[in-house]
Amino acid sequence: MLKAQRVLILALKKPCSSCERRQTMTAPIQSTSAPKIIKAHCPRCGAGTNACVRAEHTVAAADPDDGTSSSDTGRILECCGCERVYFQRNFWFSEWETVGQHPITGDPCLEGGIETTYWPAPITRAEPKWIAEIHAADRTLDQLLSEMYTALNSDLRVLAAIAARTTFDRSSELLGIDPALSFKRKLSALVDRGKISTDESEILAALIDAGGAAAHRGWRPAPDDLNTMIDVVEAFLHRSFILGDGIKKLKAAVPPYSSKP
Ligand SMILES: [Zn+2]
Repeated sequence: MLKAQRVLILALKKPCSSCERRQTMTAPIQSTSAPKIIKAHCPRCGAGTNACVRAEHTVAAADPDDGTSSSDTGRILECCGCERVYFQRNFWFSEWETVGQHPITGDPCLEGGIETTYWPAPITRAEPKWIAEIHAADRTLDQLLSEMYTALNSDLRVLAAIAARTTFDRSSELLGIDPALSFKRKLSALVDRGKISTDESEILAALIDAGGAAAHRGWRPAPDDLNTMIDVVEAFLHRSFILGDGIKKLKAAVPPYSSKP
């Protein structure tokens, strides 16, 4: 960094009432009776949603030898919409900042320098609403689906692919298929019982092979490949556990046909 640039940056680091970002970085722990509200990325509602800051803590550090400084801020947030509690981390490093221009006054202003991460990670693929019924129906499948979507949204593609295959495995067991059978024989049994078509069997065989490649052959699926795998799992679950039940409910709701006298 040039000396002139460092002098300018040091000048800009003086307390500034117009710089909300830097005030936020040094904010004290908030009272739970009157929480501060900020914009954040809710795992359910998405980016730019209001969140109450339920707790906040900052650890600051400075290196007198090279003049750099940093701060690490953790926040426990509660979404003002869905009430989901999640964690936000803002790591700021002085050398990551650049000199920009204030959007209103046009004065020189420091920009960037903060890396923001969330846990749970922001959703890249949301669960379909109907999956809530499956979560409630079987604890094991519930956990597998949660891990599959968590891995997917954390870009842990190998783990997501393995979870997709295991989700099929558990689902077939719930459909009455012997869990001790090989995957190939499970698919044959599902076809024999009329649970899936031959075409669907071939699609699921590709899913199982992909999951096996991730588990045993070190294959890391590309995002598109992984999304296709999740499409297959969701279609199988929907057809096996939701659509059939939905049709039963629909049949029960429709009045029986009566012939005219
Ligand atoms: Zn929310």
